[in-house]
Amino acid sequence: MGTFAKKGQRAPLPARSEHVVYYCSAMLMKQCVILFIFTPCNTMNGYERVLATLERRQREALAYMPITMMFAADRIDVPYGRYAADYHVLVEGQLATARQFDFDHVSCISDPAREAADCGAVVHYFDDQPPTIDESNALLHDKARLKTLAIPDPLRPGSRMNDRVSAVQLFVQQVKGELFIEGWVEGPCAEAADLRGINALMVDFTDDPEFVRELFDFNVRMATTFAKAQIEAGCDIVGVGDAAASLVGPRIYRDFVFPYEKRLIENIHALGGRVRLHICGNISRSLKEVGQTGFEMIDLDSMVPIDKARLEMGEEKVLAGNLDPVKCLRNGTPQEITDAVAACHRAAGTNFIVGAGCEVPRDTPPENLNAMRTYARSH
Ligand SMILES: [Zn+2]
Repeated sequence: MGTFAKKGQRAPLPARSEHVVYYCSAMLMKQCVILFIFTPCNTMNGYERVLATLERRQREALAYMPITMMFAADRIDVPYGRYAADYHVLVEGQLATARQFDFDHVSCISDPAREAADCGAVVHYFDDQPPTIDESNALLHDKARLKTLAIPDPLRPGSRMNDRVSAVQLFVQQVKGELFIEGWVEGPCAEAADLRGINALMVDFTDDPEFVRELFDFNVRMATTFAKAQIEAGCDIVGVGDAAASLVGPRIYRDFVFPYEKRLIENIHALGGRVRLHICGNISRSLKEVGQTGFEMIDLDSMVPIDKARLEMGEEKVLAGNLDPVKCLRNGTPQEITDAVAACHRAAGTNFIVGAGCEVPRDTPPENLNAMRTYARSH
């Protein structure tokens, strides 16, 4: 038309030919709206789908974020020892898995020993298994050593922490804005078990609470430093793995673990990051407190009833999970998996991400993962 009506002024009537154009455009728009409403098209990519879920915005399908490690190494026929040791291999395995199974994210998770190894703990490496920390020879077998322990530089060339930061950088080059990029750090309780040994730590809670607090404080500062390096490298979310937190009772969780997990999450937020809290095991007795740590999303392990978590954590929390990784995801049929995901979805409601309770076992049949994916994409 060439002219626009000014505010408060009527627009001049269009000529007849313009009427036809307007009519056709209106019809076309109407058809587009109808198509948009009735076509189950997934226009969002994985990154956008996860972000919309975490920000509780409208999305056309459920986000889908199963945790894979050994399963991913197997996809590219590489022994797991190499996957955990070389970020090129980890990134290749994650990308191959995400593309084959249509995941919404990629992750730097590999094993709990990265920070401990750089602190100087004795770590055993295997050809085709995750590295493990030698608990019988724990770094803090002598508690006095904590005072001399320095926080490792996560950017030191050749270090295990730097290898993870490099994984984030490579993911950013390959899939930034396409898939959600997940970094990873050990939570304060898990790292305490890694450095001190789980059995000694359990005794320390009653025998030497001051030492536990000093150790947790060190772990929060180390995890913050590590998270900072990964956030600066460009990760979209930081996984905080705090498995050992499920081994303590509600009182110890509230008095010792909760304040430090909360502080770590606050630190990550202050750095501009988001948090995926992952506590392997049964946290059913501490759900209310865990729900107050401040995470953006939480993985619930398979033994945690989702309806109870929803009730105690509140409607707003984004809950992920929680198929039994072995009994259901690996050993079940696709129909059983579809039914199980549907049950999780019903219990969790809208703020929900599809996944297993913990790592996808390495010999999970591909059709079982596809069943989870199909449910996610169609709901
Ligand atoms: Zn787990």
